[in-house]
Amino acid sequence: MTAPAEDYLKAVYEIGRDGNAVATTDLAHHLGLAAASVSGMARRLADAGLVAHEPYHGVRLTTGGRRAALRTVRRHRVIETYLVQALGYPWDEVHPEAERLEHSASDQLVDRMAAAIGEPTTDPHGAPIPTRDGAVDDAPCLSLAAVDVGAAVKVLRVRDEDPLLLRHLAGMGLVPGASVTVRERALFAGPLSIDVGRGREYIGLPLAEQVLVAAAPDRQPSRSRRANR
Ligand SMILES: [Zn+2]
Repeated sequence: MTAPAEDYLKAVYEIGRDGNAVATTDLAHHLGLAAASVSGMARRLADAGLVAHEPYHGVRLTTGGRRAALRTVRRHRVIETYLVQALGYPWDEVHPEAERLEHSASDQLVDRMAAAIGEPTTDPHGAPIPTRDGAVDDAPCLSLAAVDVGAAVKVLRVRDEDPLLLRHLAGMGLVPGASVTVRERALFAGPLSIDVGRGREYIGLPLAEQVLVAAAPDRQPSRSRRANR
Protein backbone atom coordinates (compact mmCIF):
# COMPACT_ATOMS: atom_id res chain seq x y z
CA MET A 1 0.00 0.00 0.00
CA THR A 2 1.23 3.52 -0.80
CA ALA A 3 1.88 6.14 1.88
CA PRO A 4 -1.02 8.38 0.68
CA ALA A 5 -3.40 5.40 0.85
CA GLU A 6 -2.20 4.60 4.39
CA ASP A 7 -2.65 8.25 5.40
CA TYR A 8 -6.15 8.31 3.91
CA LEU A 9 -7.27 5.16 5.77
CA LYS A 10 -5.75 6.46 9.01
CA ALA A 11 -7.60 9.77 8.57
CA VAL A 12 -10.94 7.98 7.97
CA TYR A 13 -10.26 5.95 11.11
CA GLU A 14 -9.41 9.00 13.23
CA ILE A 15 -12.24 11.26 12.04
CA GLY A 16 -14.79 8.43 12.03
CA ARG A 17 -14.20 7.26 15.59
CA ASP A 18 -17.61 8.62 16.59
CA GLY A 19 -19.21 6.01 14.30
CA ASN A 20 -20.31 8.42 11.58
CA ALA A 21 -19.40 8.30 7.90
CA VAL A 22 -16.55 10.70 7.07
CA ALA A 23 -17.23 13.53 4.61
CA THR A 24 -14.80 14.27 1.77
CA THR A 25 -14.45 17.89 2.92
CA ASP A 26 -13.41 16.79 6.43
CA LEU A 27 -10.87 14.36 4.97
CA ALA A 28 -9.48 16.99 2.60
CA HIS A 29 -9.09 19.42 5.50
CA HIS A 30 -7.47 16.79 7.75
CA LEU A 31 -5.05 15.63 5.05
CA GLY A 32 -4.34 19.12 3.67
CA LEU A 33 -5.35 17.99 0.16
CA ALA A 34 -7.80 19.17 -2.50
CA ALA A 35 -11.25 17.55 -2.36
CA ALA A 36 -10.75 16.20 -5.90
CA SER A 37 -7.67 14.17 -4.98
CA VAL A 38 -9.38 12.89 -1.83
CA SER A 39 -12.34 11.72 -3.95
CA GLY A 40 -9.98 10.00 -6.38
CA MET A 41 -8.29 8.13 -3.53
CA ALA A 42 -11.72 7.19 -2.14
CA ARG A 43 -12.66 5.58 -5.47
CA ARG A 44 -9.42 3.57 -5.60
CA LEU A 45 -9.80 2.37 -2.01
CA ALA A 46 -13.47 1.52 -2.58
CA ASP A 47 -12.41 -0.59 -5.60
CA ALA A 48 -9.89 -2.34 -3.33
CA GLY A 49 -12.65 -3.07 -0.80
CA LEU A 50 -11.09 -0.93 1.95
CA VAL A 51 -13.76 1.78 2.21
CA ALA A 52 -17.49 1.87 1.45
CA HIS A 53 -19.31 4.90 0.06
CA GLU A 54 -22.43 6.17 1.72
CA PRO A 55 -24.27 8.45 -0.69
CA TYR A 56 -24.50 12.05 0.65
CA HIS A 57 -22.56 11.17 3.82
CA GLY A 58 -19.05 10.10 2.85
CA VAL A 59 -17.00 6.98 3.44
CA ARG A 60 -16.62 4.35 6.11
CA LEU A 61 -13.87 1.79 6.62
CA THR A 62 -14.72 -1.81 5.75
CA THR A 63 -13.40 -4.53 8.05
CA GLY A 64 -10.32 -4.82 5.84
CA GLY A 65 -9.90 -1.05 5.75
CA ARG A 66 -10.08 -0.81 9.53
CA ARG A 67 -7.46 -3.54 9.85
CA ALA A 68 -5.15 -1.66 7.46
CA ALA A 69 -5.75 1.66 9.25
CA LEU A 70 -5.00 0.15 12.66
CA ARG A 71 -1.74 -1.31 11.36
CA THR A 72 -0.57 2.21 10.44
CA VAL A 73 -1.92 3.64 13.70
CA ARG A 74 -0.01 0.96 15.65
CA ARG A 75 3.20 1.73 13.78
CA HIS A 76 2.77 5.48 14.40
CA ARG A 77 2.08 5.16 18.10
CA VAL A 78 4.75 2.55 18.83
CA ILE A 79 7.34 4.66 17.00
CA GLU A 80 6.35 7.78 19.01
CA THR A 81 6.57 5.85 22.28
CA TYR A 82 9.90 4.28 21.36
CA LEU A 83 11.38 7.67 20.46
CA VAL A 84 10.36 9.09 23.86
CA GLN A 85 11.16 6.09 26.05
CA ALA A 86 14.23 4.62 24.37
CA LEU A 87 15.77 7.65 22.68
CA GLY A 88 14.75 10.45 25.05
CA TYR A 89 12.87 12.58 22.52
CA PRO A 90 10.54 15.24 24.02
CA TRP A 91 6.84 14.51 23.46
CA ASP A 92 6.37 17.47 21.12
CA GLU A 93 8.99 16.28 18.59
CA VAL A 94 7.94 12.70 17.91
CA HIS A 95 4.79 13.13 15.79
CA PRO A 96 6.51 14.40 12.60
CA GLU A 97 9.12 11.62 12.87
CA ALA A 98 6.37 9.01 13.29
CA GLU A 99 4.42 10.45 10.34
CA ARG A 100 7.41 9.64 8.13
CA LEU A 101 8.53 6.35 9.68
CA GLU A 102 5.04 4.80 9.94
CA HIS A 103 5.12 4.16 6.18
CA SER A 104 8.58 2.66 5.99
CA ALA A 105 9.03 0.66 9.21
CA SER A 106 8.21 -3.05 8.86
CA ASP A 107 5.73 -4.65 11.23
CA GLN A 108 8.60 -6.78 12.56
CA LEU A 109 10.68 -3.71 13.42
CA VAL A 110 7.68 -2.09 15.13
CA ASP A 111 6.97 -5.26 17.14
CA ARG A 112 10.59 -5.36 18.28
CA MET A 113 10.49 -1.68 19.25
CA ALA A 114 7.33 -2.35 21.30
CA ALA A 115 8.94 -5.38 22.98
CA ALA A 116 12.10 -3.40 23.77
CA ILE A 117 10.10 -0.85 25.79
CA GLY A 118 7.82 -3.36 27.55
CA GLU A 119 4.77 -3.48 25.21
CA PRO A 120 3.29 -0.06 26.03
CA THR A 121 -0.50 0.31 25.81
CA THR A 122 -0.63 4.08 25.23
CA ASP A 123 1.59 6.51 23.32
CA PRO A 124 3.21 9.62 24.85
CA HIS A 125 0.07 11.66 24.12
CA GLY A 126 -2.22 9.12 25.79
CA ALA A 127 -3.62 7.51 22.63
CA PRO A 128 -4.19 3.74 22.88
CA ILE A 129 -1.77 1.54 20.91
CA PRO A 130 -3.53 -1.17 18.87
CA THR A 131 -2.22 -4.69 19.52
CA ARG A 132 -0.50 -6.78 16.85
CA ASP A 133 -3.90 -8.39 16.19
CA GLY A 134 -5.55 -5.00 15.64
CA ALA A 135 -7.46 -4.81 18.94
CA VAL A 136 -7.80 -1.32 20.40
CA ASP A 137 -9.99 0.43 22.92
CA ASP A 138 -11.07 3.41 20.83
CA ALA A 139 -14.40 4.38 22.37
CA PRO A 140 -14.99 8.12 21.91
CA CYS A 141 -14.20 10.15 25.02
CA LEU A 142 -15.33 13.45 26.47
CA SER A 143 -13.35 16.63 25.78
CA LEU A 144 -12.40 18.99 28.58
CA ALA A 145 -14.58 21.63 26.87
CA ALA A 146 -17.69 19.56 27.66
CA VAL A 147 -17.00 18.94 31.36
CA ASP A 148 -19.52 20.26 33.93
CA VAL A 149 -18.52 22.94 36.41
CA GLY A 150 -17.39 21.27 39.64
CA ALA A 151 -16.52 17.97 37.96
CA ALA A 152 -13.11 16.39 38.51
CA VAL A 153 -11.67 14.57 35.53
CA LYS A 154 -8.45 12.86 34.48
CA VAL A 155 -6.63 13.74 31.24
CA LEU A 156 -6.62 10.69 28.97
CA ARG A 157 -5.06 12.00 25.80
CA VAL A 158 -4.24 15.15 23.88
CA ARG A 159 -4.08 15.92 20.16
CA ASP A 160 -0.52 15.28 19.00
CA GLU A 161 -0.18 17.06 15.64
CA ASP A 162 0.92 20.50 16.81
CA PRO A 163 4.23 20.81 18.73
CA LEU A 164 3.34 24.32 19.95
CA LEU A 165 0.03 23.04 21.34
CA LEU A 166 1.84 20.18 23.12
CA ARG A 167 4.36 22.54 24.72
CA HIS A 168 1.55 24.86 25.80
CA LEU A 169 -0.47 22.01 27.34
CA ALA A 170 2.62 20.66 29.11
CA GLY A 171 3.22 24.16 30.50
CA MET A 172 -0.30 24.11 31.98
CA GLY A 173 0.23 20.61 33.40
CA LEU A 174 -2.39 19.17 31.03
CA VAL A 175 -0.64 15.88 30.29
CA PRO A 176 -2.10 12.35 30.29
CA GLY A 177 -2.82 11.24 33.87
CA ALA A 178 -3.23 14.81 35.26
CA SER A 179 -6.28 15.52 37.43
CA VAL A 180 -8.32 18.59 36.49
CA THR A 181 -11.30 20.24 38.13
CA VAL A 182 -13.46 22.67 36.15
CA ARG A 183 -14.17 25.65 38.44
CA GLU A 184 -16.07 28.06 36.24
CA ARG A 185 -17.43 28.37 32.75
CA ALA A 186 -17.64 31.86 31.23
CA LEU A 187 -20.88 32.84 29.47
CA PHE A 188 -21.24 32.77 25.68
CA ALA A 189 -18.70 29.99 25.10
CA GLY A 190 -16.00 31.95 26.93
CA PRO A 191 -12.98 30.30 28.60
CA LEU A 192 -13.07 27.67 31.33
CA SER A 193 -11.42 28.26 34.65
CA ILE A 194 -9.67 25.04 35.64
CA ASP A 195 -7.56 23.75 38.49
CA VAL A 196 -4.73 21.38 37.57
CA GLY A 197 -3.42 21.28 41.13
CA ARG A 198 -1.64 24.62 41.32
CA GLY A 199 -4.38 27.22 41.45
CA ARG A 200 -6.79 28.47 38.82
CA GLU A 201 -5.88 28.80 35.19
CA TYR A 202 -7.94 29.78 32.16
CA ILE A 203 -8.26 27.73 29.02
CA GLY A 204 -10.17 28.72 25.87
CA LEU A 205 -12.76 26.31 24.51
CA PRO A 206 -10.90 25.55 21.24
CA LEU A 207 -7.86 24.46 23.26
CA ALA A 208 -9.98 22.55 25.80
CA GLU A 209 -11.49 20.62 22.89
CA GLN A 210 -8.04 19.17 22.13
CA VAL A 211 -7.85 17.56 25.59
CA LEU A 212 -9.76 14.30 26.06
CA VAL A 213 -10.72 13.31 29.57
CA ALA A 214 -12.47 10.66 31.66
CA ALA A 215 -14.42 11.12 34.88
CA ALA A 216 -12.03 10.68 37.82
CA PRO A 217 -13.21 7.48 39.52
CA ASP A 218 -12.11 8.49 43.02
CA ARG A 219 -14.22 11.65 43.27
CA GLN A 220 -17.90 12.29 43.82
CA PRO A 221 -19.89 13.70 40.89
CA SER A 222 -20.10 17.50 40.79
CA ARG A 223 -23.69 18.03 41.91
CA SER A 224 -23.54 16.07 45.14
CA ARG A 225 -20.25 17.77 46.07
CA ARG A 226 -21.70 21.22 45.58
CA ALA A 227 -24.86 20.28 47.44
CA ASN A 228 -22.76 19.19 50.44
CA ARG A 229 -21.09 22.56 50.86
ZN1 LIG B 1 1.36 11.25 16.45
